[in-house]
Amino acid sequence: MTGLAFVAIAILAAAAVTLGVFLWYACSVPSSQVFGPALVRGATDRPRVTLTFDDGPASPFTEQILDILRDRRVPATFFVCGQNVERHPEVVRRIAAEGHTLGNHTYSHPFPYFLPRRRLAEEIDRTQQAIERVTGKRPAVFRPPYGARWIGLYPVVRERGLKVVQWSDTGYDWKSDARATVRAALEHLGPGSVILLHDGQEGTQGFLKWAWREVFHLGDRAASDSLRPDRSHVVEALPRIIDQARGAGFEFVSLQEFIST
Ligand SMILES: [Zn+2]
Repeated sequence: MTGLAFVAIAILAAAAVTLGVFLWYACSVPSSQVFGPALVRGATDRPRVTLTFDDGPASPFTEQILDILRDRRVPATFFVCGQNVERHPEVVRRIAAEGHTLGNHTYSHPFPYFLPRRRLAEEIDRTQQAIERVTGKRPAVFRPPYGARWIGLYPVVRERGLKVVQWSDTGYDWKSDARATVRAALEHLGPGSVILLHDGQEGTQGFLKWAWREVFHLGDRAASDSLRPDRSHVVEALPRIIDQARGAGFEFVSLQEFIST
């Protein structure tokens, strides 16, 4: 190989790696704004924070979370999956009746990478319809599964008037016990924090499990697993997160407060 060919290959390889890293950042980092705007944090002028729960509803955990929120008078947002809305319409009705916000988190929680735009639109529309059937209202906010944005996402959400909401803080509850969830959720809490927790299961599989399921078509087994999530440690962590955050001077507000200001 001549020196020139070697240099050319090295430059091409470096360009490919740079493009890969950039794409990974654009699609996967929750705070990335490369493909379009996403709310990551609310206004930082006051010590206000908001709670969001993904992947539900899942009985009995969502109801237990709703009990805690009601007792402590905390508003929250539930980014629900359409298929779970159809499984637990009464829980969705209760979320709305108790003044919480409902958000769209797709119908079946697919991994968004390489998903055709039409399929993504179907996932979002089916969920909008499922929620509207139960509550009479269509959500105005959307959170992509795994927080991952793919190229076709923004035209789809823009057409539907949906605002993309990510998060700034999380309890990493999909891989933590209650104690670690409390610690992680509070560790970097600051004015405007949007806290991510899960009341359902779908978002907890991780990329490898997802890839395995997609490649070997183990969809049915994965779907039945998702019917039996265990979010009891989130239920255990939640009162401590709320009480400790309040003890540190934070006020829990509705996501709406972060969107309209
Ligand atoms: Zn999720």
